[in-house]
Amino acid sequence: MDMSRRGRASAQRLLRQIFDLMENGGYRVVFTRVGENSRLIDRHHVRMGHVGLHVRSPRTVYVDYRAEVVTVLVHEFTHGVLPDADEDEVQALHELVMSHISASQAKKILDFALAMGSRRRPLG
Ligand SMILES: [Zn+2]
Repeated sequence: MDMSRRGRASAQRLLRQIFDLMENGGYRVVFTRVGENSRLIDRHHVRMGHVGLHVRSPRTVYVDYRAEVVTVLVHEFTHGVLPDADEDEVQALHELVMSHISASQAKKILDFALAMGSRRRPLG
């Protein structure tokens, strides 16, 4: 198998894991100005310019709605799929996925994320 086919296969496998986690993982997705959210700054030490955050407990993904939302969702849910992967690995994987993702897969991620925002009550 050549490298590009292997890359595409890896991207599709990771996407399936992301879909499964979004559908069945009990996550909530919150759209907010991540780097300006004082609660996230205090509790999770986000900084200005941060556009996403994955929180393990309670399972929550925060997304800055002004950013490239699909890319941020792929990145943050990759943290969920691979909890031991470091930031460089997750960055490389989200780039791999984004180079292979189809329009319908991107729409599915957005649809899941929007449904997940209303699944549980928002934080006060
Ligand atoms: Zn990250």
